Amino acid sequence: MKTVIITGASRGIGRATAEYFAEHDWRVIVNYNHSAAEATALVDTIRANNGEAYAFQADVGEYEQCKALVEYALSFGKVDALVNNAAISEVGLFDMLSIERERRLFDVDLFAPMNLSRLILPHMIHEKNGAIVNISSMWGQVGASCEVQYSTAKAAIIGFTKALAKEVAPSGIRVNCVAPGVIDTEMNAHLSETDISALSEEIPMCRIGTAREVAECIYFLCENGNYITGQIIAPNGGIVM
Ligand code: NAP
Repeated sequence: MKTVIITGASRGIGRATAEYFAEHDWRVIVNYNHSAAEATALVDTIRANNGEAYAFQADVGEYEQCKALVEYALSFGKVDALVNNAAISEVGLFDMLSIERERRLFDVDLFAPMNLSRLILPHMIHEKNGAIVNISSMWGQVGASCEVQYSTAKAAIIGFTKALAKEVAPSGIRVNCVAPGVIDTEMNAHLSETDISALSEEIPMCRIGTAREVAECIYFLCENGNYITGQIIAPNGGIVM
């Protein structure tokens, strides 16, 4: 049985991704930070459907907790895939965000994927096998007004993906990125119905996406896509091409 670590799997895209991997017979390490009840309920649901999943609390913005998460996952033997999904967003004018909150955003959105990759790579290199999928955003591709720090971190994730992909490809590890468009999760809870319908009018496919549609892309990059590395796959309904 293959094992995947999914960060921020208690809710939203991470949760849908955990369900998708479990449905395809992967052992899923469900990382969460605050939402213990949601993570436990998800693990219970997966197990009720004969899947295998384990919840592990770790604030991935903290290096030592990343280390504990990776050690826990490795206690099952081999780790085949890492999905760097956990992130926080901040909405507001660039210069209004405090330095502390800005640093926290970079710790969670950029340094956590880098730290977790650093921690899992020696194992994957030893196995000469592994897939890392980093979750960016369309805003990392085109920039979002009033989400400057988030857009910057998500753009950096794209650069990180490409550079790391080149470095570790000879060792048999693939590193890819999924850059979703507007997806129906709590991260967009600040958007009103009017905002969503205005956004939908700008999307060629005329609707926002589902977490499941993003999960399908993530899974494809881990399980299939054997000749794909350093790529940005964008489930976004065509809003960014
Ligand atoms: P969400 O609904 O807000 O869920 C965020 C998840 O990240 C939660 O499970 C949360 O866990 C976890 N998390 C946050 N901080 C964490 C930390 N320090 N340590 C561990 N886990 C942490 O977000 P989402 O919409 O599913 O977004 C998932 C990914 O897709 C993110 O990378 C996001 O930037 C990206 N994305 C989303 C959209 C969109 O429209 N939704 C679009 C483009 C990209 P707890 O609740 O347990 O703390």
